[in-house]
Amino acid sequence: MKKLLARIGAIGAAVVIVLGVVGYTQILGFTTSERVKDNVHLVYNTSGFSRIGANVIAIDAGEAWVVFDTHLGPLAKGAFKKIKSIKDMPVRYAFNSHWHPDHSGGNAAFTDEAEIVSHENVRSILADVHEGFGLTSPGSYREYKAIAREALPETVISGQSTFFVGALQLDAVHYPSAHTNGDLVLFVDQLKIVAIGDLVWPAGFPFVDVHSGGSANGVREALLSIMARTDDQYLFIMGHGDPFTAGQLREYLSMVEKTIAYVEKHKAAGRTLEEVQAKGLPEKWRIWETKLNPQEEWIRMIYETL
Ligand SMILES: [Zn+2]
Ligand SMILES: [Zn+2]
Repeated sequence: MKKLLARIGAIGAAVVIVLGVVGYTQILGFTTSERVKDNVHLVYNTSGFSRIGANVIAIDAGEAWVVFDTHLGPLAKGAFKKIKSIKDMPVRYAFNSHWHPDHSGGNAAFTDEAEIVSHENVRSILADVHEGFGLTSPGSYREYKAIAREALPETVISGQSTFFVGALQLDAVHYPSAHTNGDLVLFVDQLKIVAIGDLVWPAGFPFVDVHSGGSANGVREALLSIMARTDDQYLFIMGHGDPFTAGQLREYLSMVEKTIAYVEKHKAAGRTLEEVQAKGLPEKWRIWETKLNPQEEWIRMIYETL
């Protein structure tokens, strides 16, 4: 009997461990990497079904890594290790595309080697208590604590700045008032890639963090400018999901332009936000709705920032 109980206990413990690992995997996933273009790797966490946190873009500059976005705090060490396992060389720069915690929360894991670079607004937001997306329901916001001083960006950009690592030239460009008020986009023309952070939400309408000074028109302007600066050979790498080709980005931009024009027309005709929301977007645009960003939310983001 004792033996049987011990065996049941052992099985129970094994079940708990398995469930624990499954639960842990669902929360944090496992870190993986994929090469999206020569010298360019995407590092992210996946549960096998969905991705957790944001993409870390790792660019092999020959003698050192350049990293774009540092992941969520608890996942950053894993991303750092994964990058080192692809090629063991130092990380020279780690850029923050904007302040959101899935893009800057992992800065501390990179500071031993890398210089953290962001737009100046990112540093000032992170240095103090700040508000941001709650991500629990559409339109929810919550308060975030200031991050440790050591993890704050040590180099800040106001407009545009160029960096050189190995043979690569990296152009970091700020687009004002788009996803937030501190968006940086990184152009690497020699590799024909653009790291564009959250200016594009690949499976849905763009997110505009109105509390952080973002605007729908700013997203439109930024995408127009990015398209004008690049050609059909470029790959556009977002903070979430898989990269876009130029054709996909064009299609996305068209949706952004036309939905903004639609809301603008109704606002100019004197309709209230509630009236435009009740009317809704034409059917063809509704394929871009997501749970956290339904059309009413996208209409609100446009209406409030026109
Ligand atoms: Zn974001
Ligand atoms: Zn994000």
